[in-house]
Amino acid sequence: MAVSVGVFGAAGRMGATVCRALADDPALELTAAVDPGAAGEPLRRVAGVASDLEVAGKAEHLETPPQVMVDFTHLEAARSNLAWCADNGVHAVVGTTGFTEEDLDRFRSAFTRSNCLIAPNFAIGAILMMRFAELAAPWFETAEVLEFHHDAKVDSPSGTALRTVERMAAASDEWAPDPTTTEVVPGARGGEGPGGIRVHAVRMRGMVAHQEVLLGTAGQTLSIRHDSYDRSSFMPGVVLAAKRIGELPGVTIGLDVLLDL
Ligand code: NAP
Repeated sequence: MAVSVGVFGAAGRMGATVCRALADDPALELTAAVDPGAAGEPLRRVAGVASDLEVAGKAEHLETPPQVMVDFTHLEAARSNLAWCADNGVHAVVGTTGFTEEDLDRFRSAFTRSNCLIAPNFAIGAILMMRFAELAAPWFETAEVLEFHHDAKVDSPSGTALRTVERMAAASDEWAPDPTTTEVVPGARGGEGPGGIRVHAVRMRGMVAHQEVLLGTAGQTLSIRHDSYDRSSFMPGVVLAAKRIGELPGVTIGLDVLLDL
């Protein structure tokens, strides 16, 4: 039987694309769409999906909660959407970025009746990029991460950049100290992440989501780059997570576990 799935943020850039991807998969059934800014509107018009659903203003207005809700909203909205999922025994697949460690601890206590998967990046290439960066980390003493996103992204650095740096810092603690003694323009060296690894966030019209991990040691550098040119790049990962979330008890961070990485 098809897994019933709903989308928080159904009228957003990612949410609308997710609605179309879920509706196109025969193993999934799109049964709910929530977005306060589009409440009462036909999903067909909001997301361009062949569906008779009407967008609900809030989860509490859904007559029958689906088995899974996918969330691509904003940080504050996602916090309360996830609380609703946990309270109602609904699995959550979450792409919204910016959660703190305190948020994750709260979700770990709350998700006892249903499961939650939070992935800072659902693109398979980006997941491989993070894994490759982690594997390379012990072989280099200097590393910096450059992330590039569209000019409407409100949080920085990206969840992917932060997760990449966390994983590289966990894989090696032998990073060289920053040589900078004078920073003429404040912030010119970027933000300092775990392990002292610098992160640089570029916001640029025309871009979608891109990241380059630079690693250097004596006489050589290694660049690991991933580019999402279109939001369709995230869809296979979201669809996979919606199908398999029932197998992952508690809170899971990242899609790696579903890719056997
Ligand atoms: P967006 O276009 O602003 O979409 C967010 C949507 O959520 C908007 O339509 C917004 O409505 C709606 N919303 C606000 N509060 C809500 C609530 N309580 N319940 C339901 N919907 C609500 O943003 P986006 O570009 O799609 O990005 C969304 C998130 O996904 C961001 O955190 C971004 O970083 C993340 N992202 C993750 C990945 C990944 O692979 N994990 C990839 C791309 C983006 P209003 O506009 O009316 O507020």
